[in-house]
Order: sequence, then C-alpha cells, then structure tokens
Amino acid sequence: MRAIRRFTVRTVLPAELAALGELVHNLRWSWHPETMDLFAEVDPYTWERVGHDPVALLGAVEADRLSELAHDRRFLRRLADAADDLREYMTAPRWYQTLPDAPAAIGYFSPEYGIAAALPQYSGGLGILAGDHLKAASDLGVPILGVGLLYRHGYFTQSLSAEGWQQEHYPSLDPGGLPLSLLKEADGASARVAIPLPGDRTLHAQIWVAQVGRVPLLLLDSDVAENDNAARDVTDRLYGGGTDHRLMQELLLGIGGVRALRAYCRITGNPEPEVFHTNEGHAGFLGLERIRELTEHRLSFDEALEAVRAGTVFTTHTPVPAGIDRFPVEMIERQFGGANAWPTVPVERILALGDEPGTPETPGGAVFNMAVMGMRLAQRVNGVSELHGEVSREMFQGLWPGFDLDDVPIGSITNGVHAPTWVGREVMELAGKELPSLIEKAQGWEGIQKLSDEDIWGIRGRLRRQLVEAARTRLRASWRARGASSAELGWIDEALDPDVLTIGFARRVPSYKRLTLMLKEPERLKELLLDPERPVQIVIAGKAHPADEGGKKLIQQIVRFADGEDVRHRIVFLPDYDMNLGQLMVQGCDVWMNNPLRPLEACGTSGMKAALNGGLNLSIKDGWWDEWFDGDNGWAVPTADGVEDADRRDELEASALYDLIEREVASRFYDRAADGYPRRWLEMVKHTLSSLGPKVLAGRMLRDYVVDLYTPAAGSARELSKADHVRAREFAAWKLRVTRAWPGVRVEHVETSGIGDTPELGASMEVRATIALGELSPDDVSVQAAYGKVGGHDELIKPSYVTLAVEAVGDDGKATYTGVVPLDRTGAFGYTVRVVPFHTLMSSPAELGLIASPEEPVGMTNGTLR
Ligand SMILES: *Cc1c(COP(=O)(O)O)cnc(C)c1O
Repeated sequence: MRAIRRFTVRTVLPAELAALGELVHNLRWSWHPETMDLFAEVDPYTWERVGHDPVALLGAVEADRLSELAHDRRFLRRLADAADDLREYMTAPRWYQTLPDAPAAIGYFSPEYGIAAALPQYSGGLGILAGDHLKAASDLGVPILGVGLLYRHGYFTQSLSAEGWQQEHYPSLDPGGLPLSLLKEADGASARVAIPLPGDRTLHAQIWVAQVGRVPLLLLDSDVAENDNAARDVTDRLYGGGTDHRLMQELLLGIGGVRALRAYCRITGNPEPEVFHTNEGHAGFLGLERIRELTEHRLSFDEALEAVRAGTVFTTHTPVPAGIDRFPVEMIERQFGGANAWPTVPVERILALGDEPGTPETPGGAVFNMAVMGMRLAQRVNGVSELHGEVSREMFQGLWPGFDLDDVPIGSITNGVHAPTWVGREVMELAGKELPSLIEKAQGWEGIQKLSDEDIWGIRGRLRRQLVEAARTRLRASWRARGASSAELGWIDEALDPDVLTIGFARRVPSYKRLTLMLKEPERLKELLLDPERPVQIVIAGKAHPADEGGKKLIQQIVRFADGEDVRHRIVFLPDYDMNLGQLMVQGCDVWMNNPLRPLEACGTSGMKAALNGGLNLSIKDGWWDEWFDGDNGWAVPTADGVEDADRRDELEASALYDLIEREVASRFYDRAADGYPRRWLEMVKHTLSSLGPKVLAGRMLRDYVVDLYTPAAGSARELSKADHVRAREFAAWKLRVTRAWPGVRVEHVETSGIGDTPELGASMEVRATIALGELSPDDVSVQAAYGKVGGHDELIKPSYVTLAVEAVGDDGKATYTGVVPLDRTGAFGYTVRVVPFHTLMSSPAELGLIASPEEPVGMTNGTLR
C-alpha cells in the first residue's frame, strides 16, 4: 500500500541539546569538519547509515541516546564550542565589510543549487557552481540572498540494469526531512507568492529557507493546497516535463522569486537587493517583474527598463546552442498578453526583449530566447572563462550588428570552486595555520613548495586508498542491484589497486563531453590498463539526462567494457554521481581527465577540485584549462578542432590521449627515486597547487564578481534611482531621442595628413572627419578613429581607438572632428572612423547597438610602414 501523504516527525531535542538544532539547520556544517565530527559523535553508526545527513541523523537517533548526551559534560562542552564558533562565523566582519560602496544586498537566482548531497537540488555543474557561489559569499561576508525552487523529487538517483542501462529513481523528498524552515508572516501563516496564469488560474507557492552559512537561500515550492494538480506539480522535479512545465518553473523562479525576496526582506528586515544576478537565462523573468514593479510606481516601460538594466548582472553558461533556453512565441503571448496581461507592461515589449535576431535559416520572430532577453535586461553580461567569453561574443554578436567582436559587451569571470567543500580533510590539515590565509586571502601558495615529498605522497596515497575502498563498496552494491549474487562478486575485493595510477572521469553525459572517447581503440585502452609494469586504473561516473537516449547508450558502452572479466579490476563505472561521489573522486584520483569537444565546455570545474587536492589535470585545452594550463601543471591533450569530420577528429584526439597517458603520465608516475618517491611527479603536484591554488578558488571568483560587476552595477542602479529615478527618466529619453535620430548620422568625409609617402614607425597622422549629426548634438556622440593592424580583407584586427575632438559645427548639422593617430606598429596598418552614441551612463560603446561608419572603406591599408 502507498501512503497518501508523507511527512517527517521531528525529534524534540532535550533543552541541553538545543544548540544541536541550530547546527543541523545551518548548512555550514557541510564545509566545517569539526561540526561533522560532532554529529558523528552523536551516534557514529547512525551517522554512517544516514549518509552524513544530520537532519536524518536526528530523526533516527534513539531518544535514550539523546538523553545520555544531554548529561555528557564533555559532549556538551564540545557542542557549546561548536555553537559559539557558528555564531562568531555568522556575525564577524569579513572581507566584504571592508569595502566602500558595495551593494547592501545582492539577489542571486539559479534554477539549481548543489549545497550538499543531503539537499539534492542539482543536476550538474551549473548547480554546483551556484552552491559554491553561495558558500564563498558566506565565507567572505558578501550579503547574497539566493533564490531557487524546491523540487519535491530533486534530480533522479541513478542505478544500472543488468544490461548496463541507466535506471532513474525519483525519491520523494519531504521538506520536513530537509534542513529547511518555512518562511512565515508575523501571524504565523506561511508567506505566499501568487502568479496569475491564463484561463483564470493562479500559481501559488510557499517559501522555504535554507541557511547556507550567512546566506539565506529561498526555495519556492508549489506543492500547496490552493493549487490545482498541474500547478502543484510545477516544482515536482528538476529539468523534467515539457516546454509548458519549464515555462511554469521559470515564471515561478523569476517572477515568484522576486516576490519571495520582497516578502523575505519585509518579514526579516533584511536590506533589499540593489543588484540582481541571474545565473543563466532560466531566471530571466525576474527583470520583467522588476519592470512591472517600477511601472506601477509611475515610470514608463523604457524608464523602468533602464533602472532595471543598471542593477542586473547576467551570466551565460553554455556555448552549446541546444543548451540555450527558448520558448515558442505563442506561449509567451498567452502568458503575458490578453486577459492575463500586466496593464503597465505591454506584451509586445516583452516579445521584443526575447526576440532572437533572425538568420537566413531561422528568421526572427518565431522563438523567444531567454538568453537574449537576459542580455537585453542586464547592463553587465559575462561568460565563465576567457575562452567562453570569446565564444559568447561570437555567438551573440548578432545582437550588436555593425560592431566588431571585441566590442560585443560580454566579458568573463572564470569560475572557481569552494575549497572547504571539495578538498580532502587531510590536505586541509597539511596547510595547518596557513589555511585561512591560503583560502580567504588566496595568499601564500608558494609556500607549498616547502612541503616534504613524504607528506604529500603520504596523503595522496591515503586519499587514493579511501577511493579504492569506497569504490569497492559501491561496486558491490551496484552489482547486487544488477542481479549478481554475493558468491559471484569475490573479485570485487581485488578490484582497483591502492598503489596503481588512478585516472578519474566524472561528469554529466551530453555528447560534447565525449564519455566514450577513451573507448575509441579498445585494444589500446586495454594495453594501458593491463600494462604489467605501469598499469593505469580508471574510475568513471556520470548521469545522462533522463530524456537523452544517446547519453544512456554511451554509459552502457562504458559499463559493458568495464564488465569485461579481463579489465574489470582496472576500470569501473560507479553509479549515481553526486556531490559525495564527486568529493571522493576528486580527492582520490591522481589524474583528472577531461576530453570535451573544444570549445563547448564553458569552463568546467571538477578539474579545479582535483587540482586543489594535488591531482594533475589531463585535458583538452578548453574552458579554464585553456586559460591556466602553463606547460608544467598537468597535460594538454592536443585538440584537432579544425578537423571537420567528427569521427576523424575523435580518432586523432583519442590517439593523442593514449600516447600522453603512456609516454608522459604513466612513465612519470612510476618513475621512482631510490627512496621510493616519484620525484618529478611530486614536483608537478607542488607546481599545480602553488600555481593553480589561488586562481581556482571560489573566493577569487566572488571577489571578481563583487569588484568587477556587483559594485559597479550597484553604482549605476543608485545613480539611476536617486531623486525619484530622475536619471533613469533622462537616460531613457536620451536613448529614445538618439535612436530615432540615428539614421541622420553619417561619416561624410575622412582625410589624413602628416605622413608623406613613406610612413615610418613613430610618426603620427592627423585625422580629420566630417560627420553629419542630423538632429543630434556633438555631446550625444563619440567620434573615434580606430586603427592598427589589418588582415587580408582590410579588416582591423584588435584595433585601438582615439576619440576625435570636435573642431567646428556648421549650421547644416555637419561637424568636423580631428585627432592624432600614432603609427605605433610596423607592417600593414589601417584606420577608419566610427561614430557611436555617448552618455556617461552607458556601460559600453555598443550598448545601444548603434554605430555609423564610412560607406566606403577608408584607410591606407596598403601603406606598409617600415
Ligand atoms: C563539480 C561537479 C560537477 C561539474 O563538473 P564539470 O567539470 O563542470 O563537469 C558536476 N557534478 C558534480 C557532482 C560535481 O561535483
């Protein structure tokens, strides 16, 4: 029989143990080993049995044991210490509190969060990154408020069938059994948000709060009695269901999320966010909700748009076009038009925000693109590694027609990982009292060089052994679930070897990550695994999206290969990749392998986790590895990214991978000095830690966001909102005026003087341009000379700019501008002139997407300098 409803009855803690409740309900325990030790002490056996989930621990521990602890003086003292430590952590001033002008609060929106395995609300990298973002914010005192959804079934857990086919299970999560509390109004009723839907329906949600250290994370939950069945199911699972379901989730996240934040700030007195950060396009509707708020306070749509843009940061996370969120235009029309329209926010304006620029194959106007809307609603946009920034500028160039790639206003901040979450305790302890400085200030990493080989190798060996042991346990459980009897599984006692070079490969399984590249030449792989002198062993994990049959086939191929009796002791697939398994693997593997199709991995973070544990990366130069591989901190698998034939490309890259493993990786690992240590390997480990350590930290990433994006965004937002938004009104009016008048702006004539027939390096050239301004004044525009190296088609390559000064304005609306261009490089040199709008509130010259250039190319492209 199935229960019609389930809930969790919480333990009543004895008064002496009240502080235990506080510790359990703040997820800071998940990155604080001392608190975990305390939980283990409550009941070591149960702690293991519940998979290190403290809420489950309190639910499972016997009342007798609790009353025993209530009188255990030593335990009470430790409990008091831990509670004091948490209180201190929650209130002490941190890095952020030293900054002037930083925002009072930041709203951070993400569809998924990987905080701890005990709160399974994530599917992969995007969620893990969001979790690490919140934790690092907490450590640095950054006043972030997280917003997401509470999925009643979370993401699926994975097992395998006898044939090696992925099986999905959706556990029912009861919020009462999770580290959450319900947001309540002063009268004790739960706070609610409501979103009107077409057809006189309403989507209601309640709000759970997870406390992530200092950072509250608000999770909206539509499983409430007022909802009809369809509405109740909106938050049933992560990335399940069809387009309609996804739209409902995104409406709840974006619009409901802003309303939840407002409720939270009203109830708790938390300052209102000055900056809103959307982690990928899924939460993009938050901008519309904020426009609605402002238009109801008498701003026009355009004025509100400016005020909202100024305080919004949008981070794009994928260069894979299929990964971009799109909806049919009719769905958006139905939601935001007709009887369900917001009176002050016309649906045509909403549609225009998400309108994807047309291409010859796909004309505009058919799909509503959430990433495109995200970019139009945010004055500051970034990708997640330098290479991804570059790829994103290319991908979205169509939004800024007429501008060069380098002008496309998309920057980058490279992701990082939260060290206390991912780094093995042994490694953390090795750092001793240097730890706070290493992690919080990202300083002192060169000191790693002084560590002894003995210490490092000893710890690496212990972490590898832990992985091997845990892998055997998991492997046994997996084989039992696949129908094997214990008698057949004796071999598992010998599966994997704690002394063999261990390569890890764990990730989601979209095709670009190429899970099965290593199987390209199965015989080659076998030789590596079974080498009598220098064997390697491989530990693999990953989940395919439930709807991705292709991904499940790849998993099956790997599993079938790993089932082979000749290799099964050297290569294993461990089901159910989650944060627990991730921690085990990034800590225990000697080498972290990654072979995506370049440049489709936006950043990648698991390799950073491995690096912080003293693992070495063996990866295609994509994402972060393209940026920070320095020749000595791991290995770069040569990419064949110019090769069109996908199969051929795989062959080339796989072959390079085998060669590298055999000739470089294995030979170095097994090259032992007389005292038994692999000296050159350990040099590489130390170099990895000291060179990558300070860069890959989530704290570094957070500081970058605060300094480069949040603080400037708060500055712009304050400027635009002060005195009843006078500057937002002015800026919007100016944009409208300039946009209307722009067709009258032309570069009429350009001439140069001062360089004679044979221009020489170091000379300079005077540029004089006649510009028709139409109805604009010289203050409205910036006239610039662009100059520098030219390519084969007269295109300027990474040009420099000088702003020309206005010399005279005629009655006919024509103005002359002059300036001096330095001939600062030899070789093919060229120049041109461009006119762009100018206003101090613009964040980039491309902001309005308006530009005027000469109709005929100008420039002495053949004037070769000597
Ligand atoms: C770190 C992590 C990811 C993301 O890793 P990538 O290198 O970006 O693929 C995904 N899932 C889990 C469980 C992780 O720990």
